[in-house]
Amino acid sequence: MKKNCLMALACLVFLTSPSFARPLHIVAAYPYIGDLVERIGGGNVRVFVLARGDYNPHVIIPRPSFIAQIRRANLLIISGAQLEIGWIPPLLRQANNPAVQPGEPGFLDLSRYVTLIDVPTSVSREQGDVHPEGNPHYYLDPENIIPLAKAIMEKLSQLDSQNALDYRTRYSEFAELWNKRLIQWAEKMKGGMDTRVVEYHKNYDYFLRRYKLQIAGTIEPLPGIPPTSKHVEHLEALLTANPARLILQDVYNPDDASRHLAEKLGMKVVVLPHDVGAVREANGIFSLFDEIVRRLRE
Ligand SMILES: [Zn+2]
Repeated sequence: MKKNCLMALACLVFLTSPSFARPLHIVAAYPYIGDLVERIGGGNVRVFVLARGDYNPHVIIPRPSFIAQIRRANLLIISGAQLEIGWIPPLLRQANNPAVQPGEPGFLDLSRYVTLIDVPTSVSREQGDVHPEGNPHYYLDPENIIPLAKAIMEKLSQLDSQNALDYRTRYSEFAELWNKRLIQWAEKMKGGMDTRVVEYHKNYDYFLRRYKLQIAGTIEPLPGIPPTSKHVEHLEALLTANPARLILQDVYNPDDASRHLAEKLGMKVVVLPHDVGAVREANGIFSLFDEIVRRLRE
């Protein structure tokens, strides 16, 4: 009897301890988040990534494993700014894991750690705009990656204080490497400054602003709305009057309108990755930006 009591007490202490004796089970919405978590968490974390890197991040179709993974997670990390609004809330409800609900310690919204651009003064969702809180593709500015990595390091340290020193060390090593690479990317992009480009979707605005390329228009009339012939004609007239050199196409949207315009106006279509895994060469967070820079400067 006494022994049972002691065992029960030991179990209680184990279950209520803020530090987990096993690897933290982390669910990341997108591959770029998963990559960052693995770099900072090392062997103390197990990461499951929900979305594939070559899909439209706004409309991920859930697989049955998603609910099971969220149900057993210690931490759910999302990009936020409404990028997952169409697919994560129903999963969170079905998984019914109180630990990872918004506002709980096991929930991390990375958009809270950066400044969003194109934040509207009034919500235009009724027109179908999928960026009602501002542009959610902020992680494609490589300078935003450091605050995201820091937020992940702090969250891991909060949930697993025993390994906090390990997380901080890994973060510092990552930040040092990243800062070196930022200098190289900035150097390579110098030659592209003032280049006028058209985007299919507003995926690359943060990147383009960072390196001072000019956004001449978008193939979509509004974020998430497919091009209409009227809009493409209007864009063609604008570009005839004031030409642009490149059309930036993501890997998941149809490219017929981009190809049509490019052929008519003598522009070049450049297919860019928008996440880790979107193209074969972008197999990690470093090579994602290496590849964007390489394709733009080719
Ligand atoms: Zn978008």
